[in-house]
Amino acid sequence: QSQELSQVQIDYHAALQALVEDGTRMVCTGRMHTDRICRFESLCYSTEAEEFVYFHSNSSVMLPNLGSRRFQPALLDLSSVEDHNTQYFNFVELPAAALKFMPKPVFVPDVALIANRFNPDNLMHVFHDDLLPIYYTMQQFSDLDLEARLFFMEGWTEGVHFDLYKLLSNKQPLLREQLKTLGRLLCFTKSYVGLSKITTWYQYGFVQPQGPKANILVSGNEIRQFTKFMTQRLNVSLEESSSEEYIVVFSRTINRLILNEAELILALAQEFQMKTITVSLEEHSFSDIVRLISNASMLVSMHGAQLVMSLFLPRGATVVELFPYAINPEHYTPYKTLATLPGMDLQYIAWQNTDREDTVTYPDRPWDQGGIAHLDKAEQERIIKSTEVPRHLCCRNPEWLFRAYQDTKVNIPSLIHVIRQTVKSKPGPKKQKWSGSLYPGKVRDAKCQASVQGTSEAKLAVSWQIPWNLKYLKVREVKYEVWIQEQGENTYMPYILSHQNHTFSENIKPFTIYLVWIRCIFNKNLLGPFADVLLCST
Ligand code: UDP
Repeated sequence: QSQELSQVQIDYHAALQALVEDGTRMVCTGRMHTDRICRFESLCYSTEAEEFVYFHSNSSVMLPNLGSRRFQPALLDLSSVEDHNTQYFNFVELPAAALKFMPKPVFVPDVALIANRFNPDNLMHVFHDDLLPIYYTMQQFSDLDLEARLFFMEGWTEGVHFDLYKLLSNKQPLLREQLKTLGRLLCFTKSYVGLSKITTWYQYGFVQPQGPKANILVSGNEIRQFTKFMTQRLNVSLEESSSEEYIVVFSRTINRLILNEAELILALAQEFQMKTITVSLEEHSFSDIVRLISNASMLVSMHGAQLVMSLFLPRGATVVELFPYAINPEHYTPYKTLATLPGMDLQYIAWQNTDREDTVTYPDRPWDQGGIAHLDKAEQERIIKSTEVPRHLCCRNPEWLFRAYQDTKVNIPSLIHVIRQTVKSKPGPKKQKWSGSLYPGKVRDAKCQASVQGTSEAKLAVSWQIPWNLKYLKVREVKYEVWIQEQGENTYMPYILSHQNHTFSENIKPFTIYLVWIRCIFNKNLLGPFADVLLCST
């Protein structure tokens, strides 16, 4: 059935001979285990030992060849979560001659992408840690196409969102447990191991309290290329023309509830004069949710993983995230960070319940649903009295869980007030003028000419040509920034200029060498590169 490896016929004897003679070949990208992805030929996996095996022969290659640094702490991260010690990849080494004494290998003919999912039952983790990184790892290596096969090695069962993973390739993804049914020694003809972290925007707080990643490298453009792919694979047709505007309330039905949802929906509909609908993961198919969110003007939801669906909102839409009592919105920003990525073009609004009367707590539930009955009395009392959860590390802070799983009666006037501070008229997709921001190139042919007047006065005439790409662009405002630095000094005089030449006389001394740095600026904030420094002697 679906577990069967592809129909591609391989000549078993030739494959076995190649493995024995050539061994395993590995070439990786990345300088550290946290940014490494490796490409292998003939990487094997022992389903009995549950270990990957690298076979040495005369033709095997191992780059980087790290020696025992391969274990400090690992060759690479198998998931997109950085340096998590349960997600490391390594292999054991054997001489190819040992194959004589081992189970007969079963060859995997498909090009394989081998990785770990991080938390496949949580929708935020599914998109952020798995689907986007897998999609863009596949974009990075051209033989990871729709005929490639995904292998998930983290050891979980399919999980509730497995259908989403299936969209990434035409072949059924295989789980670690299923490999046992294929054979005792599996050999991947061609495989890639590891995931690109280039699209991730959030760190979950394993070593420092959670927050946006320090160096975010993804923009709304790449996010939307991904959601376009997913939408097509889901067969969701986007009726661009359907003109009726509406608001989506994404509700949770098990915990962290909105207690006055009916009242909320009426209030939103009335305030914005728009149809307002609710969706939930329990009551709607994934395709329906994507279809509804893709055309929505506003998405309103409690803080929680379902808010990752704002990935699918159209440009110009508004995200309203509701936070329960004592949870500071500034400390939990995965969805704010997503909505405000450059080029995502979403408006983000956070609302917090600040009224104790409007919250319902569950101290007697199990600890993982926010119960605190297992804590000592003094600690329970401290938590109940506290008005804000202090910053904390992931993932089992009882005070955080206690507050995160409260239900909330949303104070409607307060919420509408907060939304109205941002959304002045009607929310929703604006007639989008193309805001793709392009940067200037270097200015060209920069020249300087000095003139000296007497022993204490001098002038420096500097001129340059426009950046090469400017003649193909419509740019609202073009300015030039010029820095003049006396050779050997740390400081410089900065100027912002509108023309392509200028004569500097202020603070210019005779018989001195100046370094002149020039760059172009489009529309106030698009800073181009500096041209090669000009050396000017007065
Ligand atoms: N979930 C849901 N309805 C609920 C509670 C949870 O659909 O009433 C989903 C939620 O969207 C997430 C998963 O169940 O995908 C785990 O929820 P949890 O509260 O553990 O995580 P959080 O939403 O806080 O990230």
